[in-house]
Amino acid sequence: MLAEQEHQHRHQARLRRLLHEAQLPVAKALAEFDWGAIPDLNRGQIEQLAHDSGWLERAENLLLFGPSGVGKTHLAAGICRSLIALDRSSRFFSATTLVQELQRAKAEYALAKALNKLDRYALLVIDDIGYVRKDEAETSVLFELVMHRYERRSLLVTSNQPFSEWEHVFSTSAMTVAAVDRLVDHSTLIQINGESYRRKRARRSAV
Ligand code: ADP
Ligand code: MG
Repeated sequence: MLAEQEHQHRHQARLRRLLHEAQLPVAKALAEFDWGAIPDLNRGQIEQLAHDSGWLERAENLLLFGPSGVGKTHLAAGICRSLIALDRSSRFFSATTLVQELQRAKAEYALAKALNKLDRYALLVIDDIGYVRKDEAETSVLFELVMHRYERRSLLVTSNQPFSEWEHVFSTSAMTVAAVDRLVDHSTLIQINGESYRRKRARRSAV
């Protein structure tokens, strides 16, 4: 019984550490998601991705697309949270922060090391990839990250812009094509259509 208790104790400590390391931007979980707000969304599909980590084992990607405020960040954080409970490591980044960090590494000739270090996360979230501006991405660190993780480790990418608008994220159109190709290969793409939940909430509190 003591051994079992000790095991439980260590397991809980590990989960706490994984949660801390993930640096999720919001404490929100999938349980707090109001599914009725987005009737077209396939709830079962998202819960499957959150509760079955098989796609991480297969190094598949998840792409969440949709306009601002429909819950992409909430869903991404919620999925991470559920996967952490399954003992899977993850790390959440806003795209701009990630680019900044990788650029700093590149400036110090340590990009390869930084990319390898991120390998320890089964899932890496790149939130709002569309907000990366070309001048930031010019040194192509995001491109190198996508190349590096391809068929090795999973990415969860959110975007409020369709692929056709990704020209400004990567330095050249050849890079955009190559990066999109790899992201889409072995991936699930979920398009979220609906009205901004923020706007809806504001309207509700105004009446
Ligand atoms: P996006 O990343 O798509 O711009 P967010 O995930 O940041 O949107 O959502 C905006 C706000 O609305 C957050 O506070 C989020 O928790 C909340 N929200 C969005 N959609 C829902 C939903 N369906 N149920 C509950 N809260 C939601
Ligand atoms: Mg967001």
